[in-house]
Amino acid sequence: MARTQRTGIRQVRQDVHERPFLVIWEATRACALVCQHCRADSQTEPHPMQLTTAEGERLLDDIAGFGAPSPMVVISGGDPFERDDLTELIGYGKRRGLSMALAPSVTPKATRERFAEAAAAGAKAISISLDGASAATHDGFRGIDGVYDATLPTCRDIVDLGLRLQINTTVTAQTIHELPEVLRQVIDLQAFLWSVFLLVPTGRGDALSALPADEVEDVLHWLVDVSHYLAVKTTEAPHFRRVVLQRRRAGAVDVAETFGLGPTYRRLRAALDDLLAERDLPTRVPRPPLDINAGRGFVFIDHLGGVYPSGFLPVPGGTLRERTLIDIYRNAPLFQQLRDPAQLGGRCGVCEFRNVCGGSRSRAYGVTGDAFAEEPTCTYQPTGGAVLDAAGAPT
Ligand code: SF4
Repeated sequence: MARTQRTGIRQVRQDVHERPFLVIWEATRACALVCQHCRADSQTEPHPMQLTTAEGERLLDDIAGFGAPSPMVVISGGDPFERDDLTELIGYGKRRGLSMALAPSVTPKATRERFAEAAAAGAKAISISLDGASAATHDGFRGIDGVYDATLPTCRDIVDLGLRLQINTTVTAQTIHELPEVLRQVIDLQAFLWSVFLLVPTGRGDALSALPADEVEDVLHWLVDVSHYLAVKTTEAPHFRRVVLQRRRAGAVDVAETFGLGPTYRRLRAALDDLLAERDLPTRVPRPPLDINAGRGFVFIDHLGGVYPSGFLPVPGGTLRERTLIDIYRNAPLFQQLRDPAQLGGRCGVCEFRNVCGGSRSRAYGVTGDAFAEEPTCTYQPTGGAVLDAAGAPT
């Protein structure tokens, strides 16, 4: 499949009807932290029925069985360092030709030695959470004091070991004011990629406040600005792709004026300008956002083998204890429907960006109970024009 120009949207090489680009495996729910926004409601002990080593290896066989180009695999949790067989599983996936990454928690188990072991076994990238720029905010999120102070040296160890560091930041109404300072830290930590997650109301996330639609729009436009200096991706905000295409089409304009943005954008932009005035940050060609969505290029497997379109969309397509991942991904009705833009309702169903955006199906489900309802945090009003492709051209 052809890729678009560097400034458009990146279509993955995989035919997303046949195989995912990214597989996230929640290898355990055990975790020492009690994060407020954790989708998993993590436990201190592993569930007695969590997938065994042999079942994990069968899962990795199944992922490799999708064929080339193979999906990327992220072993997450809970905390994957709670599994004694973690290095074995990473090595197994590597030998099956899979690109392996980890999403651990920062606990006393996240030592430099364990990261070195993961790297030696074949892990290429590590994602670490940083949700605030201060101990009060970050530790408040994580539910335990001291996590913030441990996170910064952990990130330095990861980079020092030659692993790619991704920093994940959850944005909520309570923490948005710290976003510019988090950006500063992400740059200082030499992260390879900043993943900004727009909270979905599910699990413990219910206790936090998601941003209203107009502020989400402000943040997405600010992230387009940031992407000229740092590789950025969004999680559960596919409308970032719509914003990227709109900005590309608009060219050099007064962004706040042209797009009717609010005070949050102006404040974030001013903070970015301050940072640029202080630092001589080199500009970069923005990393085009990937055209994947729940069940369309993306699949999540929970600790018991349940297969979901997303970790934030708690409706399973099936379980690995009854069917193969390949069968569920390709044939489960839920997955097939999620790959069909004609199933979308509300504004998403008539939107000219529906083929390249489609809205967060997890948020639609979390807010309305209907996974095909319109994205609740998108301000865009469809114009009735032709459906657009990944280059922003009419199809
Ligand atoms: S209306 Fe839906 S499909 Fe259109 S840009 Fe918004 S979220 Fe995306």
